[in-house]
Amino acid sequence: MFDVVHSCGHAITHDLSGRWADQRAGYARWLAARACTDCWRAEQQADTASRAEWLAAKRAEEQAAAAAWTDQFDMPPLEGPETILDWGERTRHQLVTSAYTALVTEGTWDEADWAQLEEQIRLVTRAGWWIDQRDAGGADLPELLDAASDRDRPTENPFR
Ligand SMILES: [Zn+2]
Repeated sequence: MFDVVHSCGHAITHDLSGRWADQRAGYARWLAARACTDCWRAEQQADTASRAEWLAAKRAEEQAAAAAWTDQFDMPPLEGPETILDWGERTRHQLVTSAYTALVTEGTWDEADWAQLEEQIRLVTRAGWWIDQRDAGGADLPELLDAASDRDRPTENPFR
């Protein structure tokens, strides 16, 4: 039996009889450099909790940005199952923003070209379509919109 004072300050008695005699001292030193099992577990849980919290905060931030953008550019609400609408909105915002950067800011498009594309963007209101394109690059958006079907444009008339 070895009394080990762990790095967290807890003294725990460990049964090292399962180890070779000449390895026990080394193993006890290795244990002493670490937190005890309870503290280690608590730390892991705190990490998981803070990561989940961070993700939730990041998602809320993205959602707020998407909502502000939707208002600013007069984008129509998306359609589809309630559970995926937010996700669809975030994806649309991110893809359209990166398309603008690729085509206008860093590309050769002028605002008139973009305005035309924006009309096409407004017609595709199926949330699932946008989610399906979540890994696409912004520069591919015109081609993707051309490939969209009538199913992806449930409303004949633009929102405005
Ligand atoms: Zn401890």
